[in-house]
Amino acid sequence: MAFVAPKGTYDLLPPEAAAFTAVRETLARPAVLAGYEYIETPIFEDTALFARGVGESTDVVSKEMYTFPDKGGRSLTLRPESTAGVMRAVIEHRLYAGQLPVKLWYAGPNFRYERPQSGRYRHFTQVGVEAIGVDDPMLDAEVVALAVEGYRALGLREFRLLLTSLGDPACRPQYRAVLQAFLAGLDLDEDTRRRAELNPLRVLDDKRPEVQAQLAEVPTMVAHLCRPCAEHYDAVRARLADIGVQWDEAPRLVRGLDYYMRTTFEFVHGGLGAQSAVGGGGRYDGLSASIGGPDLTGIGWALGVDRTVLALRAEGVGVGVSARCQVYGVPLGPVAAGLMFSLVTRLRAAGIAADLAYGGRGLKGAMKAADRSGAAYAVVLGDHDIEAGQAQLKDLRDGAQVAVPLDTVVATLQEKLS
Ligand code: AMP
Repeated sequence: MAFVAPKGTYDLLPPEAAAFTAVRETLARPAVLAGYEYIETPIFEDTALFARGVGESTDVVSKEMYTFPDKGGRSLTLRPESTAGVMRAVIEHRLYAGQLPVKLWYAGPNFRYERPQSGRYRHFTQVGVEAIGVDDPMLDAEVVALAVEGYRALGLREFRLLLTSLGDPACRPQYRAVLQAFLAGLDLDEDTRRRAELNPLRVLDDKRPEVQAQLAEVPTMVAHLCRPCAEHYDAVRARLADIGVQWDEAPRLVRGLDYYMRTTFEFVHGGLGAQSAVGGGGRYDGLSASIGGPDLTGIGWALGVDRTVLALRAEGVGVGVSARCQVYGVPLGPVAAGLMFSLVTRLRAAGIAADLAYGGRGLKGAMKAADRSGAAYAVVLGDHDIEAGQAQLKDLRDGAQVAVPLDTVVATLQEKLS
């Protein structure tokens, strides 16, 4: 039996893999320019970190985690998201004792046991940022703007920013009671009633038309914010407006992770079908304390790389489609092969992407490989050329060929490719 990739995963193969790495790099670039530094945390963590940090009642924790005992009897979980691990690292290494805010970015895989479909996988990749330790609405605006800049830099156009505030421990409990009273008056099934008792905000996220129809007049959190939360939200929106970031108010936006409070947002794209969220984030001021750390505020996002690639494809935007190499070496015979190997090494050292025909191929096969490589130039080297101390430089776009002294090949190509 031949093996296939596990259900819900996929292999990232060339040439599409180039789009994936380009998306990852381009989404992170605005954060790097804003002083965010790279962090990498383990792919698995203590299971309790996610249970406490992300929230026991969330689908992510209660249904979707890859949890396993290791041989030492510890319960470990493949990270379903990265913020809890980053916060754990910030606390463990006391990064908060230095310059604040602690600004971090990361990129890597996450794992959720979800029902696979297009855009929803069990192994998926996120790029994320976190700004920790300073409570300033301007940081919320910065974080949101970094994502917008990343999408724009990729050439993505049809994305929308959905924005809301989820309040804080001062005003959310009161709103929760108002919401529960409202939900109690609706015609809901047993399961949904139970959810309304445990986590009423989740009911707002119920996609079923019969539920949505009854929610037309539902009281919103935004209308019940306490004064500090309302002022905070106003300040975030004012700063976003200043820098030309547009958003849609989304008073019913609910996210799948419990730690969010105050500013909360999601980026959606119309070209993805059911899985329209390409990224999301928000403020998580309670997270640090909930996992045993000091009282630290924080705001961040995670953008889905897999879905961003799909969104770009839906818009017909090509990214990362540069040729595999610029110059391709075609050596004819063993002596030429040795010389070409050195020449290609020198081309690479000069910053030129170069490859050569390995395996002692003949002229015809090697020229075919040169064409397939996407290179602009082939360097052909035969015995006669070696004797004359030269190489043949062939422009693969128009077929023009010139002889160039061997010791000037690198300089000549540098000039032609600049
Ligand atoms: P979340 O961590 O749930 O806020 O998700 C942030 C982003 O990660 C989403 O907007 C998606 O783009 C991406 N994402 C989350 N879950 C999946 C999944 N199962 N498959 C692919 N992408 C995902």
